[in-house]
Amino acid sequence: MLYRVIDSQELPALVEAFMEDYEVIAPVESGASYAFEKVTSFDEIKLDYPTTITSCKKYVLPPRETLFKFDALNNEVTDFTVKVTPRVIFGAHACDINALNSLDMVFEDSRYRDPYYEARRGATLIIGISCTPTESCFCHLMEADEARTGYDLFLQDIGGRYLVSIGSVTAANVLESACNPREATDEDRIAFRQATRKRQESFNEEIPDVQEIAMLMDAFHSDPFWDELGSRCLACTACSSVCPTCFCFDIADTLGPDGKTGRRERIWDACTSPQFAMVTGGHNFRDSNRNRVRHRMYHKLNGFLATHDRMLCTGCGRCVRACKAHISPIEVLKFFEEKGA
Ligand code: SF4
Ligand code: SF4
Repeated sequence: MLYRVIDSQELPALVEAFMEDYEVIAPVESGASYAFEKVTSFDEIKLDYPTTITSCKKYVLPPRETLFKFDALNNEVTDFTVKVTPRVIFGAHACDINALNSLDMVFEDSRYRDPYYEARRGATLIIGISCTPTESCFCHLMEADEARTGYDLFLQDIGGRYLVSIGSVTAANVLESACNPREATDEDRIAFRQATRKRQESFNEEIPDVQEIAMLMDAFHSDPFWDELGSRCLACTACSSVCPTCFCFDIADTLGPDGKTGRRERIWDACTSPQFAMVTGGHNFRDSNRNRVRHRMYHKLNGFLATHDRMLCTGCGRCVRACKAHISPIEVLKFFEEKGA
């Protein structure tokens, strides 16, 4: 990995240089919170944001997208070409970069490559930035508090300047042309170490680290704990909507007004939705809130780990804030901490 240092005052020039060739998406104020939105000026960007309501997932996996169009009368299909906008996502936290890395594992799996996702992801540069954990962040427990891959540049704030990790030649060239990057000194490296330690010490210590969570979930698959969670779940699907790693989708065919032509769409879906597991004939193989909430937690903390060697949760804490019933991986971790004690 190549490292350089730039001064904080150089950031506007860096963003403006990206704006010459890319649409720039960055965290901005949105009501009482923050959101990733298109920006046209550096002044709109809030780089010291705690977190955003939703992640930048929608820029690589839109909530609704057309896969192809069809003519039902003549039995013809028109391939849909993805209209890709070259983008820079500027200011993604490490957890969200790790979430994109997990989505890559799913949608860029060589066995089932997804051309729609790949086209968008391939046209997107990721510029990460260091952060300070909020009280609902637990990315360090999910090994997602540092991004080792998946970014083009990563900016670590080391006080008045940034230690920049360079992940791609394209971004390095923009950095070189817009700023005056210099070699890191010993003083910079010490400042980096101090900033990293300070962040690590900022995590909420009340969120337990349960190393054997996956095994415990298997052992307590029928525990009344899941009934209790299910009895509280409102099936609102807010948890999946805000989650940077949830990727379930539905496929729907929509006919136009002529009743002959239409389009096939991919639409975000959620495993906490009552209809999610309903199949033809009306059978629902996950027919209770208990089963649906349990399934979601299992996929996050157990199932994905078994197949991809990592949790499908980055500990971003978004669902902790979104769930009106106070159901989240943190509650699951706390329950299993007691079980394992
Ligand atoms: S777990 Fe919470 S956010 Fe998710 S569907 Fe149930 S009530 Fe809604
Ligand atoms: S399950 Fe919750 S904490 Fe984990 S990645 Fe999804 S929104 Fe973030």
